Amino acid sequence: ASVRELLLSRIRDVPDYPKPGVVFKDITPLLADPAAFTALTDFFAELCVEHGATKIAGLEARGFILAAPVAVRAGIGFVPVRKAGKLPGATLGQAYELEYGTAEIEIHAEDLSADDRVMVIDDVLATGGTAGASLELIRRAGAQVAGVAVLMELGFLPGRARLETVLRDAPLEAL
Ligand code: 5GP
Repeated sequence: ASVRELLLSRIRDVPDYPKPGVVFKDITPLLADPAAFTALTDFFAELCVEHGATKIAGLEARGFILAAPVAVRAGIGFVPVRKAGKLPGATLGQAYELEYGTAEIEIHAEDLSADDRVMVIDDVLATGGTAGASLELIRRAGAQVAGVAVLMELGFLPGRARLETVLRDAPLEAL
């Protein structure tokens, strides 16, 4: 079977989570399968090389799990993008809209420089709000965007369209 088929077979649909009517894409079976987790890590690492990334930004919390081994595999640095209030140093923050209300994410700007090209990694692109806000943070920190790479893009939501304006010419790669 192809890598894509292997990975898709290790994603579990959980109905009515986190609330009634939502089908949650659960990646924990993939994490528990070393062949699948390694294949995904290799896939992301190749994308980072292909797009000339010098840093990887992982989005809290599942993005941390996926991005950290990619950083080690690709031999480039890891930068966490966290929910507001979690990073101890001087932060840049970016608010974005949720279905109801707003959320805010933060980054340590001093971990990025003007020479950096940053690849954003997360598990799922839904509305695109989180990934879009992370791209704003990377640019405001003075670095360049290498692209966004996700395991899954929920095609029934307008995430790709919402991200298009903030991506500019950077690629959105979804396995
Ligand atoms: P967005 O900001 O694109 O609407 O939501 C994406 C964020 O929510 C990602 O950080 C992702 O981890 C999480 N998310 C939304 N829906 C799902 C889902 O069905 N499964 C998983 N694993 N994460 C989700």
